[in-house]
Amino acid sequence: MSVNEIINDSKEKILKYRYILIAILAIIIILLIIFIVVIIKVNNNKNINDKIIADKQEEEKNIMLVELENKRKEEEERAREKQEEENAKGIIYLTFDDGPSLDTTPKILEILERKNVKATFFVLHYSDKNAELVKKEVEKKHTIALHGYTHTYSEVYSSADTCIENFRKIQEQVFQTTGIKSNIIRFPGGSSNTVSRKYCQGVMTELSNRVLEEGFKYFDWNVDSDDAGHAKNSEDIYNNVTSKIKESRSNVVLMHDFAGNEKTVNALERIIDYGIENGYVFRKITDETPMVRHSVNN
Ligand SMILES: [Zn+2]
Repeated sequence: MSVNEIINDSKEKILKYRYILIAILAIIIILLIIFIVVIIKVNNNKNINDKIIADKQEEEKNIMLVELENKRKEEEERAREKQEEENAKGIIYLTFDDGPSLDTTPKILEILERKNVKATFFVLHYSDKNAELVKKEVEKKHTIALHGYTHTYSEVYSSADTCIENFRKIQEQVFQTTGIKSNIIRFPGGSSNTVSRKYCQGVMTELSNRVLEEGFKYFDWNVDSDDAGHAKNSEDIYNNVTSKIKESRSNVVLMHDFAGNEKTVNALERIIDYGIENGYVFRKITDETPMVRHSVNN
């Protein structure tokens, strides 16, 4: 090999190594760029995640503050109501059974709203159309209570189990409509009914304990408007209620908002005025309300 050939060969090798070096450098640079991009991306994601977490914590804090504020307001309101009750001659709980109905219930709701009175509705199974009335009762802060899926005595009182099931079914319907799981009940015919004897001996004796074990509280009444009985007109209803209301006790007034019950609608405002003028306060039934119960007759 001549000197020239050796020089040429060396040049070729150097040239070849230079390309390899350049290629390695290029790969290192590409890897570095990828590395930097990944780092930036990870960092960005971390920042976004941190922001999401911080926002969520802030939101949770705000919700908690609002809840605390609402609770404080509720407690204040309750304390004010308690004071009012202590100063009052007695408490009147207006209760409406057998609704809702498209003609009567809206009129009753309108009067209650105008007079700023909260009441209790013991509802029966209702159609989709009437579900709006149940929603409205809740929206206006009345108590939704349970009367039964059906009112047909032969079905309700064929056994204690069927009666409990009858309450459970209406409880579920009310829950589906309002999200409220009510445990306040009124037996169809009241706990003192004798009609159940025809279908199951001793069923009310059994039920008066069973419903409590099942977590319900049941309410009868001690002021009967007789609007589902002998009252012929609004005057009769007004007289029945106002003559039976007594001082220094919980007066639970039985009325109905079934269809066509104009006479109760027409008596309601005057009954409320009578209560207010005579120093009573009106309340809805709640979990804290002491039960008003009849003696059982079957
Ligand atoms: Zn009823």
